[in-house]
Amino acid sequence: MNLNRKMTLLFGGIALGTLVMLVVISLYAFRSYSIASSTAHVRTAAEMVRVHLTEAMIHGTIDKREQFLDRLMEVQGLRSARVIRSPFVNEQFGAGMTREMHADAIEKLVLADGQPRYVILDERGDSVFRGTIPFAASSRGTPNCLQCHKVAEGTVLGAVTMELSLTELKRQALMTVASIILTVAAFSVLSILLARRLILPVGSTAQAVERAVQRALKGDFKGRVEKRTDDEIGQIATETNSLLVFLDDGLARISQRVVQLTGRTLRQDDNQLEVAIDMVNGLADASSFKQAIEEDETKAEIFDRFGRVLIDSFGVREFSIYETSGPKQLEPLSVDGNAGGACRWCDPQILVRSDMCRAKRSGHPVDGLSQPGICYAFRQPEDSGVPRRHFCVPIMQSGSVGSIIQLVVRESDAARFQSQVPYVNVYVREMAPVLEAKRLTETLRESSLRDAMTGLNNRRFLEEYVDTLIASARRRKTQIAILLLDLDYFKVVNDTYGHDAGDVVLKALAGTLKNSVRASDMVIRFGGEEFLIVLQETEAANALKVAENIRATVADMKIQVGGAVLQKTISIGLAMFPDDSETFWQTVKFADVALYRAKDDGRNRVVRFNPDMWQGHAESY
Ligand code: GH3
Ligand code: MG
Ligand code: MG
Repeated sequence: MNLNRKMTLLFGGIALGTLVMLVVISLYAFRSYSIASSTAHVRTAAEMVRVHLTEAMIHGTIDKREQFLDRLMEVQGLRSARVIRSPFVNEQFGAGMTREMHADAIEKLVLADGQPRYVILDERGDSVFRGTIPFAASSRGTPNCLQCHKVAEGTVLGAVTMELSLTELKRQALMTVASIILTVAAFSVLSILLARRLILPVGSTAQAVERAVQRALKGDFKGRVEKRTDDEIGQIATETNSLLVFLDDGLARISQRVVQLTGRTLRQDDNQLEVAIDMVNGLADASSFKQAIEEDETKAEIFDRFGRVLIDSFGVREFSIYETSGPKQLEPLSVDGNAGGACRWCDPQILVRSDMCRAKRSGHPVDGLSQPGICYAFRQPEDSGVPRRHFCVPIMQSGSVGSIIQLVVRESDAARFQSQVPYVNVYVREMAPVLEAKRLTETLRESSLRDAMTGLNNRRFLEEYVDTLIASARRRKTQIAILLLDLDYFKVVNDTYGHDAGDVVLKALAGTLKNSVRASDMVIRFGGEEFLIVLQETEAANALKVAENIRATVADMKIQVGGAVLQKTISIGLAMFPDDSETFWQTVKFADVALYRAKDDGRNRVVRFNPDMWQGHAESY
């Protein structure tokens, strides 16, 4: 029920209630007033009759009493008046007139107990007030009743019964009540009309505000409220409109900016507010994601974090992240959240023929959500159940595709997921520069730890890696063998064949050394033509064998330099960590001491360090 109707009903109800109350009160008041006034009238008339009768008795005109009573009938409203004699009077003075002798039931009661009686009678539609008043003998007044009447004080000598017509009073009462009804009704109707006039704008403004708010809740802030009055209600309309305009403008500007950032297009039936909140949330999440990945150390960590975003924020559990790992190769970094998983959602041939991947080939997103079958390489494994669709986004690095994100969703979820794609793109956009920076840092770091000429790790690498190496040896309680190698008479090569020839020899030696040890061992270019080999989990006896083997291999090695074929030898010093020294770098020094001894002893040999050697060398270190 609207406000108008409620107000009308309320006012109508109050008016009706007031009216009924007024009528009831007026009728009751009139009734009480009629009785009181009639009683007073009857009493006065009775007193006049008594005075007249007494006067008549004194003056001896008592026989004319009938005429007096008849004349009394001329008093307006008085219908009848008659006197009744008590038996005491009859006894003393004899019977009176016939009509004075026949008391009716009420009169008998009055004569008996001296109490006046009043009743209202309805005689053929005419309301009549009848009162019977006793005349009691009293010695106090003048004349003294008891002088003539031989009765006791207070004896009832007679009574007068009078009837007054109430018809006129009743008519007046009804007229008054009718005028009250009319006045109140007219006043009520006027009040209701006036109240409606006042309430009408309140009600319709409230309805208009409600409609505008309902629309606003659906994201449509175009609703406006008509201003109907110049009071507070009009003010509400004006201010509601200002608020709606403010929200509409603000939201439009936010949406416009956010749409630019997310690339999401707004549809007509979109709830603008919800979409804006969604987009801002998406951007905020993507921004904190960017902060997090900037602090990540490796690309693998970044992709792992992104994988979790796909699962937690987008509900995508099936996805692949590929990285280009050669001119034609792709490497799966993460498949369905598993690092290094096998290719699952594509033809595995893309791993060796990366151009089969449409995203890789084109460098553009591939929308298999709305265009299933767009990429021939998309392949759904047979055990995967319901049909799937895919969406692939390439991540550009240094102008070419560095990685590819492939999202896989159920066909039934494809339409819903389509609205999420812009947000995925925001993540990808945030990720690309960070990945690029990480790639550069990794390359830079890689190059700072590697010797460009031989491709071997350098001394800096060993310095960085040494803690891990020691910790692992301590944990496993194993020995690390350190071989320090130096070419014999290398200067001669440079001097005879030139520096370039020397370089060729060094490269050839590096290759031979690398091939002579296990993959887990390390060959490091330690200085100019000095190399250091770290053999992990190797006892001294074995290390000696490996060293001897290296020495012999190098000695047999024939190196083509220009027109000449060179054969060079090396000397090797061997020391064991932690057997020879508790500190790693001290062990390296001991290996150097042993190398020095090998040189001293004639070169092309392996010398195992022993503490005696240190005695002679300690001073020089
Ligand atoms: P020894 O048997 O005592 O070791 O005699 P050696 O001639 O090899 O003497 P030493 O080890 O002191 O010589 C190091 C030489 O290696 C000096 C330097 O010219 C040369 N050398 C160091 N680094 C390079 C390099 O990168 N390329 C070339 N071509 N020569 C290098
Ligand atoms: Mg040297
Ligand atoms: Mg040398």
